[in-house]
Amino acid sequence: MKWKGRRQSSNVEDRRGSSTGGKVAVGGGIIGLIFLAIQLFSGGDISETLQQLENQVPATTESRELTADEIELGEFTETVLADTEDIWNKIFSENNMNYQEPGLVLFTDGVRTACGGASAASGPFYCPADQKVYMDLSFFEELRTRFGAQGGDFAIAYVIAHEVGHHVQTILGTSGKVRQLQQEQNQTAANQLSVALELQADFYAGVWAYHNKEYLEEGDIQEAMSAASAVGDDAIQKRTSGRVVPDAFTHGTSKQRIEWFMRGYNSGDIRQGDTFNGRLN
Ligand SMILES: [Zn+2]
Repeated sequence: MKWKGRRQSSNVEDRRGSSTGGKVAVGGGIIGLIFLAIQLFSGGDISETLQQLENQVPATTESRELTADEIELGEFTETVLADTEDIWNKIFSENNMNYQEPGLVLFTDGVRTACGGASAASGPFYCPADQKVYMDLSFFEELRTRFGAQGGDFAIAYVIAHEVGHHVQTILGTSGKVRQLQQEQNQTAANQLSVALELQADFYAGVWAYHNKEYLEEGDIQEAMSAASAVGDDAIQKRTSGRVVPDAFTHGTSKQRIEWFMRGYNSGDIRQGDTFNGRLN
């Protein structure tokens, strides 16, 4: 993605230099993997899980200098967030609505949020209570080495755009409606609604990429698709339990995630994104 020298968002809070000391003990190996898998791109109510993590986030802080790579990754994140602001401001105003821009917090190891404490193992997530996206950028190394995604800057951009998609769903009231409906339904139906919510965030990421086409480079869409595919429920289930159980899907299969991203990317039209198939009306 062509990003250098372009506008950077002022809504990014960089807490990497003053991270909480020590590693958060969420456990490595298979437990860490399953935990990460469950939390990946979580769009639902994550506060409970985060609460459990809260105790594990150390209270002490220590300061350190950021490396040149970390600084560059921060600038990249600010540019991508600025792109999402420009595009969603435009789309909202075209629909006579006001877009409230979300915040984005970069952290290492552990962080406190209005949804509870989080660690790198939480994966990137959006907290509706403070309308901020939280990301430990080491997650992307994990995505490449443990989940087999090909990596690349556009994989990160896609994830930011996906999390911003959850912010859009929150301010449009979609997330609230889904949560209400889920309480009235059995687990399978509730899971299907979670899948639809996740796929719509992928669709919104695609809409963002459509409006950002002039900055895309060869291979960028491939990078996003590789990341989306690596975090599909079926891919994660196969890797963690060796089998695929569709009823337990909460994020969508690799194929579905790619399909909805591409639908957004090809149309650029938010009206094409009813992943709920009318269930919310
Ligand atoms: Zn998500």
